[in-house]
Amino acid sequence: MDYQKIADLLFPEVTTTTEEIFAKYPKRNLKEGQVVSRFAPSPTGFIHIGNFFQMFISYNLTRVSDGVFFLRIEDTDSKREKEQAKEVVFEILNKFGIKFDEFQTLDGKDIGEYGPYVQSQRVDIYKIFAKKLVAEGKAFPCFCKKTEGKEDVLKLRENKFHEDDEKEYDPCRDLSYEEVKKHIDNGEKFAIRLKTKNTGKERVKFYDLIKGEIEAKANAKDFVILKNDGIPPYAFAHAIDDTLMGTTIVVRGEDYIGSTPMHIELFDALGFKPTTYCHNPLICKIGENGNKRKISKRYDPEADMRFYFEKGYLTRSVLEYLLNIINSGFEMWRANNPDKDWSEFKFGINDITAVGPIFDLVKLNDISKNIIGTMSATQLYDLWLAWAEEFNKPLAKVLKEKKDFSTAMLNIDRETPKPRKDIFNMSMIEEYFSYMFKKPTLNELSEEDKEKFNEFMDEYQKAFVFPNSNEEWFNLVKEVAGKLGYATDNKAYKANPEAFKGNVAKACEFVRIAITGRKNSPTLYEIIKVLGEKEIKDRLSVRV
Ligand code: GLU
Repeated sequence: MDYQKIADLLFPEVTTTTEEIFAKYPKRNLKEGQVVSRFAPSPTGFIHIGNFFQMFISYNLTRVSDGVFFLRIEDTDSKREKEQAKEVVFEILNKFGIKFDEFQTLDGKDIGEYGPYVQSQRVDIYKIFAKKLVAEGKAFPCFCKKTEGKEDVLKLRENKFHEDDEKEYDPCRDLSYEEVKKHIDNGEKFAIRLKTKNTGKERVKFYDLIKGEIEAKANAKDFVILKNDGIPPYAFAHAIDDTLMGTTIVVRGEDYIGSTPMHIELFDALGFKPTTYCHNPLICKIGENGNKRKISKRYDPEADMRFYFEKGYLTRSVLEYLLNIINSGFEMWRANNPDKDWSEFKFGINDITAVGPIFDLVKLNDISKNIIGTMSATQLYDLWLAWAEEFNKPLAKVLKEKKDFSTAMLNIDRETPKPRKDIFNMSMIEEYFSYMFKKPTLNELSEEDKEKFNEFMDEYQKAFVFPNSNEEWFNLVKEVAGKLGYATDNKAYKANPEAFKGNVAKACEFVRIAITGRKNSPTLYEIIKVLGEKEIKDRLSVRV
């Protein structure tokens, strides 16, 4: 069969050869060990934490090897593409401080020699390679109406190839030049399919940097490499781009392992050196039924990277949490190097976990609490205000009006040798300190405590002098409590609780509830100091 003639018939406009393309994408001049890797998001209007996780692994591998990290926008699936989606990618990565060595700017300028870094601008390149495959008899045009939906194809296939369901040879794979010409003359659209060499019995082996050697059934399907709109699906674009762009390690989720035999066959058909894959576990969650499942945007708000901005997590907390998932050694490193920037933590491919991580918000919060716990009040005020400016305007107004008060409030139990570590994101602070902005309710008091509360507060209010130290404050509570028949000695109380109205802890709880509305709070004396005499006297006067 004259495949070259078919190729010319299908792609008369394509005159460039693959050699000419390779001349434009020379081999990168790399030093031993330097990694070239990429983040290749499909611009869907959000970044999934799983993709971000892969990106972060890629980024770190290039960073520690002094390699090249580039951004390639995979916008060939127009159904999934959304307005402003590229902007979202940049916005999120910028906020996280992730920098690319090569990328296309939002106004379309390629930074780097291996562009365009946006797939929709590389369509001509894909066609050159598709034409070559057709000319070599390794790919063929398919005129079946639904090359994507496949219903028609499947029906045809059932009739023609039902005797062997191991392979999925396409009905169009052996069309003659004349048949192809007839379709073309009819103005019919065509897809290009790879003519698989396999029969369904073969196995392939490939080496994965995380999983080691993997053996799988070889591809035996004439899969589409150019859709009938001339756009390639992921597999074809991936093989060409990662080859031309000189990617040395393709970092992606392990959900791609299943289609890797297809990718391997493509690399082979194209005459490319196989690429090196690093398939990483997907981030999972334990679902309601107790089963492990992939974290998904549909059910889990935390799957969308914007969640962390909206909640006001520090980007550093999120990155450190992910590092912790990538390599459990990070936690120890952090404990031994509390003041170092996370970027000083070095790890190689062998240190990456191969176990599917379970997303754990509690762990993220712990990491975050530790980070925020070591910040100064001023630092935290600035971060809180910046967050509020974006996500809670009314709060931002209050914070600006009450800057000194807010900073003093944030300094409660902070900047001490053992700072309190309760705060893990910006969105929780307002509620955490709600009693600092508005008078509390006394709902925390139990029914049987109400009378005792009123009695105690009457006496305490009378005796109250604005304290100058924690001891002074505590001693007064103790004194009033003692007079009213509360145990001032815990041992005595424990030995005979019936003999007392309660112990000093109970009395302290009453004062705490009066001032904060809560049974637990940061150091009350610190709160009293920040709220000031007038406000405290006001709060001590409230009864149930
Ligand atoms: N566009 C693909 C995705 O978002 C990229 C996968 C890859 O990194 O190769 O899943």
